[in-house]
Amino acid sequence: MPRVGTTIFTVMSKLAREQNAINLSQGFPDFKVDERLVDLVHQHMRAGHNQYPPMQGVEKLRNLISDKMSSLYNCNYDPHSEITITAGGTQAIFTAISALVHEGDEVILFTPSYDCYAPTVELVGGKPVYVQLDTKDYSIDWQQVKKVVSRHTRMILINTPHNPTGTVMTSEDMKELEKITSGSDIVVLSDEVYEHITFDGIEHESVARYPELANRSLIVYSFGKTFHVTGWKTGYVVGPKALMDEFRKVHQFNVFTANSPIQHALADYMEDKENYLGVAEFYQKKRNIFIDAVKASRFKLKPSKGTYFQLLDYSAISDEEDTELAQRLTIEHKIASIPVSVFYHNPVQNSVLRFCFAKEDDTLLRAGEIICNI
Ligand code: PMP
Repeated sequence: MPRVGTTIFTVMSKLAREQNAINLSQGFPDFKVDERLVDLVHQHMRAGHNQYPPMQGVEKLRNLISDKMSSLYNCNYDPHSEITITAGGTQAIFTAISALVHEGDEVILFTPSYDCYAPTVELVGGKPVYVQLDTKDYSIDWQQVKKVVSRHTRMILINTPHNPTGTVMTSEDMKELEKITSGSDIVVLSDEVYEHITFDGIEHESVARYPELANRSLIVYSFGKTFHVTGWKTGYVVGPKALMDEFRKVHQFNVFTANSPIQHALADYMEDKENYLGVAEFYQKKRNIFIDAVKASRFKLKPSKGTYFQLLDYSAISDEEDTELAQRLTIEHKIASIPVSVFYHNPVQNSVLRFCFAKEDDTLLRAGEIICNI
């Protein structure tokens, strides 16, 4: 992978540490994990759940995920054959692409996009085909998608709620995707790791809600995002049996299975639905605190609709490139963010920086003060 260097997340977090800056760059919480969840992991370790769990994951956890998928999205997944626990969302994406994309296959990706998609497609010999989101509101131009679909299109990879833009796909988007893929053998890989983080009453649109789409989709989720445990690297994939069979063939040799005591603990923790249904309200407060804190600044913003990221437009402040400005703000103002151009295939200068608001309220207020002084 000659063109791949160190990711911007590692670069900016390192710079933030060196500069003693507030780090709103990488997407991880700086607050404590629920003690009950930590206690559950301890309990399961002490109870002897320390050896390989089944390849597809702990049964109780798969059963609870199946219940959740039917109650939230009205879609039934068989816990035995259609749900697999993974070592986080990234592994799930890697395994899904490895299982389904072959030499010469095309994969349609929307840019800006999360950084692991394109390198993974290239690594397995596939060809990323990029469709750029609208430069103003980051919506999908479905006419453009139609134009790039070819007989080589193997997969369309979507992400909603969307990192880095904080937008969400609508039911109209889903219907367009359904129309475009109908009658084809295109598979959809739907990255929904932020499913529980949507704002202002917006409901997450999962492909699982659309039977025709659900039938051709693998959907990726991450407990890291939902339960503030990004370092535990545990997630899962759901999909129809035919696709899941292929996924598992690769999964068993890729990682074989995922962390045992954590899976058991997550299963107990998921029994209380409030633990995931309450996440939207929790982050809504944080998003509001951050937006209020930067209101008086010279940055412009459209409130994030989902994820724990907020884009700030600096066109009224500077005409520097976003990579330069992000570094300068970290060094001179002690606030770290992520330049959005790095999420593009061909860097696009939109004059926007991405800030993560999965932080203590106090951190957000201090960050707001700094941002208002820029
Ligand atoms: N997809 C998106 C859009 C993400 O933002 C992330 C994490 N930053 C992942 C997948 C990966 O999730 P995990 O940490 O569980 O590997």
